[in-house]
This record gives sequence, C-alpha cells and structure tokens, in this order.
Amino acid sequence: MRRVRGKSVPDVLAKARPKKSNAITRDGHLESSLGHMEEIFAKLSLGIYVLTFGVMFGCGTADQETTVQKAELRMSVPANAPHLVVLGNAQDAGSPQLGCTKACCSGLDALEAAKRQVVCLGLVDPASGRSWLFEATPDLTSQVEFLSQYSNQTLPNGIFLTHAHIGHYAGLMYLGKEVLGANEMPVYAMPRMQEFLTNNGPWSQLVTNKNIEIRPILSESISKLPLRQAQGRLSNLKVTPLQVPHRDEFSETVGYRIEGPNKSALFIPDIDKWERWETDISELLSTVDYALLDATFYDGNELPGRDMAQIPHPFVVESMSLFQDLPDSIRSRVYFIHFNHTNPLLNEASDQTKAVLDAGYNIARRGDILEL
Ligand SMILES: [Zn+2]
Ligand SMILES: [Zn+2]
Ligand SMILES: [Zn+2]
Repeated sequence: MRRVRGKSVPDVLAKARPKKSNAITRDGHLESSLGHMEEIFAKLSLGIYVLTFGVMFGCGTADQETTVQKAELRMSVPANAPHLVVLGNAQDAGSPQLGCTKACCSGLDALEAAKRQVVCLGLVDPASGRSWLFEATPDLTSQVEFLSQYSNQTLPNGIFLTHAHIGHYAGLMYLGKEVLGANEMPVYAMPRMQEFLTNNGPWSQLVTNKNIEIRPILSESISKLPLRQAQGRLSNLKVTPLQVPHRDEFSETVGYRIEGPNKSALFIPDIDKWERWETDISELLSTVDYALLDATFYDGNELPGRDMAQIPHPFVVESMSLFQDLPDSIRSRVYFIHFNHTNPLLNEASDQTKAVLDAGYNIARRGDILEL
C-alpha cells in the first residue's frame, strides 16, 4: 500500500469504502466521513466549495482548509499499478441540465450536483509519473484538478478524444490563450476530428497558436508512442481506438481499448444500438476486464412524447437483456456510464440503480478506480 505523507494507509480506511467488486475501490462516497471530505475537497475548483464548507464548518479558515486537505485523496490508489479514474459519468449536457425543472435536476443539493460531471476518464501511470484524459469536457477544469490528486501532476500529458459532440471536446477551449495557454498539449484525434478542429474556429486557433498538437490516430491502430516517451521509461500501456456507429455530423466516433500490464478496459461512451455495430459487443466483453458502456437512457419511458425507437443509443434495459445470458463473471465487467439527466441511474438511491446492481452490473461514479 502506498505511503502518503509519511503515513501508511490505515486498513480501517479501506474498510470504510463500500466494495462492489474485487477490482474496484471507490473514492468520493458520502457514506463515510472520509468520503465526505474527499467530495468537498474535490469541489475546490468549482466554487461550490465555498457553499458546502460554509454550511458545514461556518466560515472557512486556513486551519479548516488544511484539515480538509489532510483527508488524503490518494490513499486507496495503488502505488505502482496504472489505473483509470472515473472523472465524470453524465451525458454531454451534464446534470443538473440547463433549463430542466423536473425532479431529476431541480432538487439536487450542491454536493450531489457537483458529482454529476460530464463523461470523462483519467489514465494514471504512477511508474512514469504521467497521466492522460479521455475526453475534453465542459467540466475539464474540475476534472483535471480531481485527476491531479491521483497523478501528482498539475496537468495531464495528453487528451484522447472520441468525437465532436459538445460534451466530448468543448473542454479544449480551456487550453487556449484565454485560460491555460497550453504549449502543444498532445490531442489524439481521428482524421475527421482532426479536420474539424483544424478547419473550424475557434478550435483552429488552438492549432495555429500551438496550444494543442494534434496526434493523428486511426481505428484499430495501437498507440504506444505517447506512453513510450514517459521519462525514458517504457510503459506497458496501450491505447487503441475502435470506430463505432454514431451520429457523425462533424467527426467519426471512436471508443477506446485501454490496456495495462495486467488488465484492460473498454470505453464506449456514445454508440448507436449494439446491432448496428459490426463488432459483437458480447464477444468484446470477454476480451476485457472492464467495459464502460453507453448508458445514455435507462429505458423507453424516459422522454415522454419522443419516439424512443428513434433515439439511437442502447438503452440500459436493452443492454441488460442482451447480456443476460452471459456468465456472471462477464456481466460484472460492465460499468454503465454517460447518463442523460433523466436517467435514474444518476440517482444512487433509485429503484433502477438497485435493479442494475442486483443484476450484477456496475454503475460508473466519479472517483471509481479501475486498476490496469
Ligand atoms: Zn455524448
Ligand atoms: Zn433533469
Ligand atoms: Zn455523441
């Protein structure tokens, strides 16, 4: 177990975390006092910190802030094993969603709202001291801050993009001169995505000002290059884009296979119905240890007045039906992610959440750690 600030991690803290499977440890839960502190600290960059801290402790003082920071965020993280960190699980528009007055969004307290960030993963390689983002979301500022608690880095070493829908690339704006003024941040993009960013303002400015450096990728091509540059050390990490069918107005869409020395993960946040993909998702599940899959909508009742058959995402109930005859050991690899604000899986206490967990699946939450 990693030693943090001269102290080994007490087992009692590990026990305080709920465990869903032997492969995952979850930070950021509200059930334990540590989790509560972690959540608060994680919101420092959101300004919500001011509100929650004020409610809990009265006026925040330097001492109190130090106390919060001592609620170490990285205690459960393996010292040397590469791992993924879930940095967001919501659909592009996040939750609460602008203009939504329904119960799904209107009654959220500040902490709950801050947990519901747009879909994003961090990849951390402790041995090389490097980290990467999958997706550049509108919540990028907070997500990079959260990732830095795990990676010991202020900024990631690169960003892998899936496609040109707002929740998946709009965070690139923070790399421009108005904010970070990044210096050639590697951005891994498929050909149409590269063309989109290069030829359309304001994104093109990021290219011409060299805030980002686009690293072209191709579907099924294994990318080891960025990871081999890690401080002279070879990394065991591999990233492979997999093209998937989706509404491709501005770019093609990919998911990613992310392989570590011991385990591998599949990340497909957006895809049309599974039948429309030439790859058999059930077979693919048997080749990975984790599969973070598009779960935009739970079922067909979610958007009254809309013909849900015309909504080209695999509903959670459809995916569960498709996977129901797979062995428990395969189904337990699935982590549903990319939830529309109406999706009851965003609510940890909903009946649907219970049904999904009871059926042996997982629900990705911010702070989940997946060891690779
Ligand atoms: Zn999306
Ligand atoms: Zn809503
Ligand atoms: Zn999309």
